[in-house]
Parts: sequence; structure tokens; C-alpha cells
Amino acid sequence: MLTIVPTPIWNLEDITLRALRVLKEVNYIACEDTRTTWVLLRHYDIQTPTISYHSHSGQAKTDKILDMLSNGKHVALVSDAGTPGISDPGYALIQTVLEAWYEVSALPWPSAVITALSASGKSSHHFLYLWFLPVKKWRQTLLKRISENYSETVVIYESVHRIIKTLSDLEKYFWKEHKIVIGRELSKKFEEYIRGSIVEVQEYFIKNPGKIKGEFVVLI
Ligand code: SAM
Repeated sequence: MLTIVPTPIWNLEDITLRALRVLKEVNYIACEDTRTTWVLLRHYDIQTPTISYHSHSGQAKTDKILDMLSNGKHVALVSDAGTPGISDPGYALIQTVLEAWYEVSALPWPSAVITALSASGKSSHHFLYLWFLPVKKWRQTLLKRISENYSETVVIYESVHRIIKTLSDLEKYFWKEHKIVIGRELSKKFEEYIRGSIVEVQEYFIKNPGKIKGEFVVLI
């Protein structure tokens, strides 16, 4: 059986008792980066053997995990942070495991997307999660399409390298007074929510260039 185990997006306390139990009980933990997961495992004194499984893992690694499952082993899949498969490796392995008729289950836990959405104050009855915006191809087309056709909350992940560019692209396609929320460094020491119109949020970063740092969730 393969169990998807979400892990903290930063704060090591953000893990369920069940997740800790499963990580202790499984035969193997497949990790996006074993060094990152070891920090969590050491903190909770979990000694389960780990193997790496990341976006460049080839068929041989998938076959190894399938072998474990065929030998009746219980494998947990974790990513570096948050939920495997949500902007992280997992989807391809899960699909292969399901095609081979092994059981897959997931422990419930929010990701950065749900964490940011829940505190954002934006409508969350319906929302569209777009992962990271494409860097080049389709970027402008996609922004135009969502600004014209989607009136509910749109959530994207963004990196420090592109947050300013993304804000100026949003300004091109959305009404300048359109309210957005940025969740920055969630669950970390300098966590903050920046709320305002696109222009106000841009001004905030112009006035506070030191805040162009860390990890961002943008709610449009
Ligand atoms: N699997 C993760 C999840 O469940 O949220 C997402 C991993 S994805 C590779 C990394 C991106 O998620 C970051 O660039 C950022 O946009 C968002 N993210 C992850 N942790 C975050 C945090 N603590 N604060 C804000 N955004 C975060």
C-alpha cells in the first residue's frame, strides 16, 4: 500500500499525530529529497528507511517502489514540504501504482494553497488553483483568459524571482483596484499576509524591498 503523507510547509510542529504514526510504521519512506525529510524524521526520532523519489527519478525508481508494494511492503510518499502531488512530485508515481492495482490512500492535510486561502478573506467556495504561472509560453494568454472569464478566487504559487514580474503582469490584465492577497513565508517566523489592490501591493514591495524574499502564495 502507498500512503501519501503531507509534511509541514516549514514549522515542524505542523504535522498530525497520525502522520507521525504512519511514518514510524511504514516499511519505507519515499522522499523528494532525503536530506530534507531527515530533518523531520530526526526531530521526531523516526528511524524508518528512506529512498529518494523526485521529479527526475526514472522508471527504475518507480519499479523499485512497485517491487516493494508487490512484496507486501507499506510505503509512505512525502515531498520536501506540504502535500506530495501539489506542485511537487507524486502524480506520476501515484498513477503507476494505481494502474498496477495497489491501494493508494492519503492523509488529510492542507498545503500552502489551502493555508493561504483559509486566512485570505477571499471567497473560497469556488477557487481555481493554477500552480505556478507558465514562465513564457501561454503566460499572457492564460492571464487574459482568467481575467476575462473567471470571477472567483484564483490561487497561484510564486517564487521570489518572479513575484514582482507577476504583479506587473496582473496589473495589465486586471482592474487596478482588484483586491489581491499575498501569503508570504506561511508558518515561518516572518509570516505575513499582504492585502490590497494590485497597485497597493506593488507599492508595498517598492517601500519594503526587504520583503521580496521567501515563498509566496498569490490569491487573485
Ligand atoms: N507541496 C507544497 C504544498 O503542498 O503547498 C508546494 C510545493 S511548491 C514546490 C513550492 C511553492 O509553494 C513555493 O514556491 C510557494 O509558492 C508555495 N509555498 C510553499 N511553502 C510556502 C510557505 N511557507 N509560504 C508561502 N508559500 C509557500
